[in-house]
Amino acid sequence: MFLNKSHRPVWAEINIDAIRSNLIYIKSKLSQDINIMGVVKADAYGHGAITVSQELLKLGVEYLAVSNIDEAIELRNAGLSSPLLLFGPVETPEFGKLIQFNVFPSVFSVDYARELSESYRYRGVFPKVHIKIDSGMGRLGIPVEDALLDIEQISKIEGMIIDGIYSHYPSADEDIPYSEQQTLHFTKLIADIRRLGIKVKHFHIANSAGIQNLPASCGEPYTMVRPGLSLYGYSTQKNPDIQNSMSLKGRITAINKMKKGATVSYLRTYTVKESNEQIAVLPLGYADGIPTILSNKLKVKIKNKLYPVVGRICMDFMMISLGQNPEKIQVGDEVTVFGEGAASVEYFGKLCHKIPYEVTCGITKRVPRIYTRKEDERKTIE
Ligand SMILES: *Cc1c(COP(=O)(O)O)cnc(C)c1O
Repeated sequence: MFLNKSHRPVWAEINIDAIRSNLIYIKSKLSQDINIMGVVKADAYGHGAITVSQELLKLGVEYLAVSNIDEAIELRNAGLSSPLLLFGPVETPEFGKLIQFNVFPSVFSVDYARELSESYRYRGVFPKVHIKIDSGMGRLGIPVEDALLDIEQISKIEGMIIDGIYSHYPSADEDIPYSEQQTLHFTKLIADIRRLGIKVKHFHIANSAGIQNLPASCGEPYTMVRPGLSLYGYSTQKNPDIQNSMSLKGRITAINKMKKGATVSYLRTYTVKESNEQIAVLPLGYADGIPTILSNKLKVKIKNKLYPVVGRICMDFMMISLGQNPEKIQVGDEVTVFGEGAASVEYFGKLCHKIPYEVTCGITKRVPRIYTRKEDERKTIE
């Protein structure tokens, strides 16, 4: 039915319409003229960075962001030419790649900015950067208290173009007062930067939770937001306005009629309860990203009904009890492991003590990603 590089009967289906409607929702939370930087690190949280980026740019997203230089190169090699920010640091010998692939580096100190600028000057170009400020994340960046002097110094480096200055929330979904304090400190820094007349194009701080909970981060003096999770339709707090975009599916490869008392899978954790209980085999396992902790816990959807996963989840397979199989489920029938009426990504994550980010990032490379959209029934795969 769809073009597919993989010949396995399993796939992660990415609903482009859901991503579009999530983007519309995100825009509804922003002041006019706020740009969106679509965060597509980690292969767009497992949704496929190339296709997702292409779609986001078509939908009017202005910037993209990734975590490391390999991810940036992947996007450039696929022909994506939008402004692209790198969140993470780059080692000195790799500075040339930033220039070659036209990527904005993040700058974490005056020394780092100097090193970068020397490398750029050597190649005859001006560095264009985003400066990272630590306003309470405790990870990377110039501490907000010392930032003004450092930014002034960076701005005076010959040829330096500051395309942006940004910060990040550690807890904009859980600790709103703390995040408001952060916003206050960063907003004050922005006022100081402006007072000194330092030229900066963009200021940004809001991730998905910031957009949701901190209106002060979605308008003046901020000019950009950086959603990731909410674009893909997941949330750590309930949010009925966004829609999961990934569902994990596969087709049954065998159905066994088992005797009462027989056991299923490694360590024999499930015993067949009734004679003629039918056990379906689905060719998805922990090597595809389904944690074994979900053994005897998860329920999956087949023909609009939920059925329990029984026995230990294997590397390549999981088993599902169909009971006496009143619905006459057959080999080849489709199973939904999460999404579309089966467990939501959030609930699937809760069952195995994972945040939604981990669930979709955890669906491994050997599961092909397939893209669907209504306005065009054709399904394509990257
Ligand atoms: C991952 C990341 C984001 C996006 O965060 P979400 O919670 O997925 O919206 C934004 N900014 C930075 C610096 C990040 O690392």
